[in-house]
Amino acid sequence: MATFIVLLGPPGVGKGTQAEVIAETTGLPHVSSGDLFRENIKNATELGTLAQTYMNKGELVPDDVTIAMIRERLSKPDCKEGALLDGYPRTVVQAEALEKLLAEFDGKVDYVPYITAAEATLIERLSGRWTCKAEGHIFHEKYNPPKLAGICDLDGSELYQRDDDKAETVIRRIQVYLTLTAPLIAYYRERGILSEINGAQPIDKVSADLLAVLGK
Ligand SMILES: [Zn+2]
Repeated sequence: MATFIVLLGPPGVGKGTQAEVIAETTGLPHVSSGDLFRENIKNATELGTLAQTYMNKGELVPDDVTIAMIRERLSKPDCKEGALLDGYPRTVVQAEALEKLLAEFDGKVDYVPYITAAEATLIERLSGRWTCKAEGHIFHEKYNPPKLAGICDLDGSELYQRDDDKAETVIRRIQVYLTLTAPLIAYYRERGILSEINGAQPIDKVSADLLAVLGK
């Protein structure tokens, strides 16, 4: 039977890195809803074009469009054994839609690892990011500081803080995530498939805890 994993975690918790580790270890494809949107839009598929019309109007893409993209992705041969879902679902309504969809594939959500960390840790990680103006090289005030403050080690260009990396934006993003997903977390916890993973640990330790949850 296919195995489906829903990976949850707020911005700054290192979800992308861990998704790669899980995909590599389990052999399950990493199905990121963000990537699916970008690919469908880039390839101007019917669904991509439809999604784009909503985005052009500044509206949210309806759930049925997203579900259709995921259905199409899960129908591909590499998802025969299951998939690691990332970025979807975000709400209880979407989780219910996902349950119906996975039933079409004789599957269900088997594991929901939720990587967490204190809000202050997430804010520190995300808001300390500085980007090189020339090549986009990324530094971090605390974890990967440039030799000279404000200057890129690699090409000597000026470093700046992207709007996305400014403290007020970061705080809002984290709070929106936590508020929006709280009911989803409760939904999966009630079903007994949610496992909290301490994302404040070193990356290797987080990976080990995750794989243990998945029985790997
Ligand atoms: Zn640079």
